[in-house]
Amino acid sequence: MRVGSRRGSSGLRGVVCGASCCLLPGEEGITLKIKTTRACEVTMDLIQLRHEIHRNPELSGREEATARRIRSLLETLKPDSLVTGLGGHGIVATWEGNDAGPHLLFRAELDALPIQDKGEQDHASQVDGVGHLCGHDGHMTILVGLAERIAAKRPARGKVTLLFQPAEETGAGAAAVIDDPAFKEIQPDTSYALHNLPGFPLGHIILKEGPFACASRGIIVHLHGKTAHAAHPEQAISPALAMAELMQRLTDLPGRTDGPEDFVLATVIHAQLGEIAFGTTPGEGVVMATLRSALDSDMERLVAKASEDAREVASAHRLRHDIEWVEEFPATINHPTSTATLSEALESEGYTIEWMDKPFRWSEDVGHFGQLGRLTLFGLGSGEAQPPLHAPNFDFPDTLIQKGVDAFEAVLRKELG
Ligand SMILES: [Zn+2]
Ligand SMILES: [Zn+2]
Repeated sequence: MRVGSRRGSSGLRGVVCGASCCLLPGEEGITLKIKTTRACEVTMDLIQLRHEIHRNPELSGREEATARRIRSLLETLKPDSLVTGLGGHGIVATWEGNDAGPHLLFRAELDALPIQDKGEQDHASQVDGVGHLCGHDGHMTILVGLAERIAAKRPARGKVTLLFQPAEETGAGAAAVIDDPAFKEIQPDTSYALHNLPGFPLGHIILKEGPFACASRGIIVHLHGKTAHAAHPEQAISPALAMAELMQRLTDLPGRTDGPEDFVLATVIHAQLGEIAFGTTPGEGVVMATLRSALDSDMERLVAKASEDAREVASAHRLRHDIEWVEEFPATINHPTSTATLSEALESEGYTIEWMDKPFRWSEDVGHFGQLGRLTLFGLGSGEAQPPLHAPNFDFPDTLIQKGVDAFEAVLRKELG
């Protein structure tokens, strides 16, 4: 990363490097800067790029302008293939080395959150109610920085794919990309991804082999009874007591789940009984909860038990019921081989690695890439005083951009040269 580039007044700028090998247009305020050392090493103003993305956040599944921006930048870097529209607005760019070798995938996310950005910085969100408050603006900027490094020096062997994935926050994007027929051609041997982590020292690497982040799944139980006048509750079938019982059962679910092998949790997150109408005995109710587990096998047990609870409670109260499952994230399981490769590469670059002994409770849909081959997700500490992810004043620290690019490049060069 090189910073401090000049901003011109026109929307389109170009810079020619000393080796006269490239003319790269910048667009929408992104100035490209050339570092005139060795070969032709092209460096954009990545901080400026992040700020622009931060100002213009887009919600999960609607990352159209963000994807267009990333695509235009990648086109200037001349990948061997560039595929767009994957699983929605996903993009992959692939570069091949001269010799045969493994295929690595590096992934970043494109989406922002439906939360008002209350940051006071100049680059705060300009979109009401939408903010890059998980740092995906930083993650995608890191991947653009990696693309520059690859364009400047291709891998010697194998190939490398950079994936800009849509809709991570809803848990839909990774699965949609993998299921896209155009992705069938792109079968990586190993996938790497990072997530910035507030609460850890800036630039530290947080790593764990095996379960790294939890599987999670949202359950929505609809209970259907019969509405009547509030003066005649005996003529109604109200779900009120069933809801209370179900909320208790769901809360107690982990302790009643046979043979959990690791961490399990169930959290009731929402409930609604009828409407606010003092003349009515309600006939409809809904209870929602989020189930979490470190292992996918334990999630299967939680799902089966929660479904059984809903059926038993509904039946005992003479209610009909139906269940919806939403926001399904698999567990993120870090493969021992790729995790060892990553840690060796980062240690040799002088990174401090903090090894965890327990998985994180949150979920990341990058876990789906574990179906394709080896997977390692690691944390990049974004500062002990940094507001938590999704907090209204969260802002990805710019100093992490280069740390992230260097970390990804270290493992890339170790594996592919
Ligand atoms: Zn998030
Ligand atoms: Zn995130």
